[in-house]
Amino acid sequence: MLKQWLQMIFGRRSDGDSNGISVYVRCAKCGEVVRVRINKGSDISRNDDDVLFVRKMAMDGKCHSRIEMELFFDDAYRITKRSIQGGEFVAHEQWMAQQNRMVQP
Ligand SMILES: [Zn+2]
Repeated sequence: MLKQWLQMIFGRRSDGDSNGISVYVRCAKCGEVVRVRINKGSDISRNDDDVLFVRKMAMDGKCHSRIEMELFFDDAYRITKRSIQGGEFVAHEQWMAQQNRMVQP
């Protein structure tokens, strides 16, 4: 169940960008959802255990809080572990919902 949920969030490539992985995080302070793009080539590296990982910092556009996240991947770039500070991971749909709200008058 959890695995399916993770695939739902991270498995899609809605932007058609096969070299990038998009994750969506929500600021703990103001609730702004931020899209974070991770480049497989330049962002992801291997740690001492030869595991693919990335440490990424995002800043939301509203209250400019720092959101720090750490993601681990298997060799197929599927997320196996993740942690976040200053916010929480949300689904692509929640980011889309925010975008839709923004374009409305
Ligand atoms: Zn914020």
